This record gives sequence, C-alpha cells and structure tokens, in this order.
Amino acid sequence: MRYLITGGAGFIGSHLADRLLASSHDASVVLLDNLSTGSYANVEHLEGRASVRLLIGSVTDEALLEEAVREADAIFHLASAVGVKLVLDKPVQSIETIVKGTNAVLALARRYRRPVLIASTSEVYGKSKDLPFREDGDQVMGATDKQRWAYASAKALEEFLALAHFRESRLPVVIARLFNTVGPRQTGSYGMVLPNFCRQALTGQPITVYGDGKQRRCFCHVSDAVGALARLLAQPDARGQVVNVGADREISIGGLAERVKELTRSASAVQYIPYEQAYRDGFEDMERRVPCLEKAARLIGYAPRHSLDDCIRDTAAHQARLLGLTPPETRTEKPPMSAPSRKPPRGRRRK
Ligand code: UDP
Repeated sequence: MRYLITGGAGFIGSHLADRLLASSHDASVVLLDNLSTGSYANVEHLEGRASVRLLIGSVTDEALLEEAVREADAIFHLASAVGVKLVLDKPVQSIETIVKGTNAVLALARRYRRPVLIASTSEVYGKSKDLPFREDGDQVMGATDKQRWAYASAKALEEFLALAHFRESRLPVVIARLFNTVGPRQTGSYGMVLPNFCRQALTGQPITVYGDGKQRRCFCHVSDAVGALARLLAQPDARGQVVNVGADREISIGGLAERVKELTRSASAVQYIPYEQAYRDGFEDMERRVPCLEKAARLIGYAPRHSLDDCIRDTAAHQARLLGLTPPETRTEKPPMSAPSRKPPRGRRRK
C-alpha cells in the first residue's frame, strides 16, 4: 500500500507514518507538509528510507497535491490549522487552510477514487453539554465573534463536505473526530496544555492553569489514536461514518497540573491565570469534553490502551530530550522545597 499523509510531518501525521511503515513491509508513505506547524525533526528518523518521500508544500498547491493523490492507494488528510493559539493569531489563514485544503483533497480523491480519512476534531461538538459526546449528537456553537467557533465551524464544514461526497458519489471516506491527542513530538507552541505543563514543570517555571482549573478533558495517547486511524481507513463498514477517537477518562486541568508536577518530580508552583489574561478577547473555553467510544469499539474493536500517566510520562520524556535534560522517570533526586500552589482566582469562572 502507498499512503499519502497530508500533514505528515506533524505530531499525529509522523506517528501515523511510523505506524503504517511498521505494519507491513510493503507499505510506503508520501508525507505532504508545508512545515508550518509540522517539523522536519518529527520525520528526520525516516530520512533515507526508500519507502518514505517527504514533499514540502501545501495542500492548497493543486499540482503538487494531484501528483501525490495519483500515486497513492489511500489518503489520510491530517493537514490543518491546529491549536487555539494559532487559530487566534492567524484567523484567515486557519479557516482557509482547513476549507480549501479539504476541498482540494476530497475533489482529487473523488477524481481518482481513493479511500480517504479526514481528521476532524471534538471541537465540532462545541459547547454541547450532552455528555458523553456521541457522533450523532448536536453541535452547539457560540457567536461568530468568538474565534474558537470559526475553527470548530470550519472543521464541521469539512465534515459536511466529506459526507456530501460520500452521498453523491459513494466516495470511500471516513471522518475521525480526535479528542485531545497527546504524546511525544507534540509541541506546546500552539497552546496545547500537556507539553506546556511538562516543559514548565521540567524547567521549574510556574505551571499555568487557565481559569479555575475545573474544566475537564480526556487525553488520548497518540499511539492509540494513530492505531485507530489506520484501522478506520481499512474498515469498509466505516465508510460514510463519523467516528470519535480518544480516551474517555476525565481529569480536571488543575488535577493534570498536579499530576504532571508529581510525575516529573517538579518543584514548580501551580499558578492560576484568569482567562482574560491567558487569551485575548474572542475566546471561550469548554467545561467538559468526553467521547462516547462505542462506535469505534463496534467498528474497529477500539479501546485506548495507554493510561493518563503513560501520556504524561511520554510527553515529559520528549520535552526533557528537547531541553537536553535527564528524562524525569530516571531522576532519583528529591525536588527542592515545593512552592505552594496559588489559589484559583475568585469571581467569574468562564468567559
Ligand atoms: N490550558 C491551561 N494552560 C495552558 C494551556 C491550556 O490551563 O498552558 C487549558 C485550556 O484553557 C483548556 C485546556 O487546558 O481548558 C486544554 O487546552 P488545549 O489547548 O490543550 O486543548 P483544548 O482547549 O482544545 O481542549
């Protein structure tokens, strides 16, 4: 099988490439990436392999994309704007990358009849409180002046378009909604919480919890996520379906900060920062987000294997390597006197 992975030098794309190459001697991958949020370092270890080709360019470059799609047997479309910070900093580019990129990928997949997996996001559930989120549950979006919903709406439009292709032409397409994927190679540069917390803990900086820290998330190890993506694309019964991919054990962000501190044996203080300071105007946070995983279990026998501690340890070990530090799991020394955690701010809990 020859796979095209758009966003192949990104955090998830690079792990998916590793997984596909490990799954069969015959597998080869073309990684299409403009190295904007992805990085060469993520795929450097694959350099020189005959079964790997890195194409540096954008999914919106039609000629390049067409060449890549034509040569592929199947496509994973992961290229996207990612992270709250990027979406707030570059709103036009974020929307355009998502909508134009997915439009181009789907049109070419249709022309060449290639199976395609679209990586979507749990953001499309928006502020829904109908937990756990089931794939057929409602989207609850905020006002259009809150930039977060532009991202969620663009990703939802991507899903509509993919499903429309399925209905019109039976394009073999499956949509995976990813829930807070974490692990090695994830960068904190775009606002993601776990690599940020690990880096702060490892360097003795305050661990910055936004809001009151009571908001909850379910973190899924990237290794579990890419296993699910590979199996979803190979499963004919998943075609035309939207499927949640994540883990369903929750932790509060305040609790996550404490656990990161423990596992990295850090002396960092946990510092609560009001949303108004953490994000500029136009941001709204979600209180809880829990996937229903029944559909993934039914279609591909999916169940997450990695614990939250695995997620933290692996993310911290990667951050430690980047910082040139001893990986936390091998540290034996006691931390210096731990700084007290500051109390969450009183008053308004959420914007
Ligand atoms: N968050 C935080 N400190 C940080 C980065 C994020 O407290 O340094 C919070 C953020 O406000 C959110 C949660 O952690 O409530 C998860 O944030 P992330 O951007 O990783 O994912 P998402 O908001 O998409 O779930």
